[in-house]
Amino acid sequence: CGIVGYVGHRSAASVVVEGLRRLEYRGYDSAGIALVSVEAGEDGSGGLATEKRAGKLANLEKAIADTPLPEATTGIGHTRWATHGAPNDVNAHPHAGATRRVALVHNGIIENFDDLRARLETDDHVLLSETDTEVAAHLLELQVLSGIDLTTAMQRVCQRLEGAFTLVAVDAEDPSRVVAARRNSPLVVGLGEGENFLGSDVAAFIEHTREALELGQDQVVTITAEGVEVTDFDGTPSSGTAYHVDWDL
Ligand code: GLU
Repeated sequence: CGIVGYVGHRSAASVVVEGLRRLEYRGYDSAGIALVSVEAGEDGSGGLATEKRAGKLANLEKAIADTPLPEATTGIGHTRWATHGAPNDVNAHPHAGATRRVALVHNGIIENFDDLRARLETDDHVLLSETDTEVAAHLLELQVLSGIDLTTAMQRVCQRLEGAFTLVAVDAEDPSRVVAARRNSPLVVGLGEGENFLGSDVAAFIEHTREALELGQDQVVTITAEGVEVTDFDGTPSSGTAYHVDWDL
């Protein structure tokens, strides 16, 4: 029910967990985080670290305290309000693809997940959770493994999804970017100096920046430390609506 993304120069774990706390008011049953560190392992998957827990954010924080995550300045986070699959650790987001190169979080419902799941399973994909979300992680990773960047991969996958979704994803081999998309579900970009943010709403990043970019329907956004790029699902360059947040939360 809450989504956070970050690329910049600070500890992504702190920014993401803090952002999730600011989104707690939306309600949730589980929480999780994925980080991509610069020192990616030679097998291509070492750059990705995830942790997720059913229950309160405090459970996630305790898990991170017990098994510290690597230093990273790129990350995504999620608080889940379960629609498909019980609220447990396995169904909590993030979800990863088969090789754990791509991790993704999702708010909303992917209506045609049954059909997509059946096709993936025909191709020997093993899905670990009961969520509608995990199919998107597998499809996104398949695109990336075919040699295209995460942004183009997201555009292509979104064209195959039906329903309502905010998706935010990272690629273990590309710590420079976080890629997100939205359809019938909210997503806002926070514009910083040498850092950029994503959130379900501005509460996720208000303590870091008040310059925001509201995304339109069916758009994909890529944030790096230095910039923001918006396109439609077909890759056509587009733009969001910039505004200054001048109210207090
Ligand atoms: N439909 C997804 C799930 O059940 C996402 C729910 C949400 O919006 O948090 O895991």
